[in-house]
Amino acid sequence: MLPVASPKQLAVDICTLANLRTDLSVGDLVEPPRSERARVRRLVRRLFEITRDVDIALGCAPLVSRFVSTWLVAGCCAGGWELKEEFEAYLAQRDPVLYSVPREPARIDFFPQFQREEIIIGQVMGPTFDEVCRIEATRMFLTFIQSAEFRKIGRCKRCGRFFYNASRRKKRVYCTGPCARAAEAAKAHQRKRREEHQSELAETAKAVKKYESLSPERKSGIRNWKQWVAGEAGPEITTNFITRAVNRGELRPPRDQS
Ligand SMILES: [Zn+2]
Repeated sequence: MLPVASPKQLAVDICTLANLRTDLSVGDLVEPPRSERARVRRLVRRLFEITRDVDIALGCAPLVSRFVSTWLVAGCCAGGWELKEEFEAYLAQRDPVLYSVPREPARIDFFPQFQREEIIIGQVMGPTFDEVCRIEATRMFLTFIQSAEFRKIGRCKRCGRFFYNASRRKKRVYCTGPCARAAEAAKAHQRKRREEHQSELAETAKAVKKYESLSPERKSGIRNWKQWVAGEAGPEITTNFITRAVNRGELRPPRDQS
């Protein structure tokens, strides 16, 4: 059995495991890209510390990721957690064991289920690898949701990575500074694009008004009103822009053309 990680360390470890799915592939861990080598080495060391076995850590990762993402969706509350029944049913099949080590709080633990052909005359079969991973993931997650850190995990709105949120600010939405800055830059770009679009629409609407005020003789010389309006509104306005704006209801076509 593993030594008890501190609640905070456990929350960090859960993020590490859950992020493996969005971070690097298993192949990358075996043969990391050159630029990633140092980071991957640190990660592998960390994975070993989490379960004492990198393969088990990798095997746990998809399940931990599923646990934690649904847990966040449920607002970190067991009542609304979509995996509650599945989790309970799984635990119900395992025999709980209460145990203590000196000077540490008591824990309830569960052991993997042995294969059905458990005893073959004098020989005891071990649990399957999947079962070992499942019990590790379950054990970690159960300890986490019973700890005071149960809601100190977030999921980055930009990159989807999980992060430990030590700060008291409940509303942290990005995993890191670079992610927050990139998201802000993207928002600023969108805002600027929207403003440009509005001013292009305004120029075009002005040109439409001008078209409407033309004398019938002038109008009769114009084959395509969109071309005329585009020419009038400025170099960035195209007939396609006008068609799209009319179709979206952002621009009113000239009265005699609608
Ligand atoms: Zn992020």
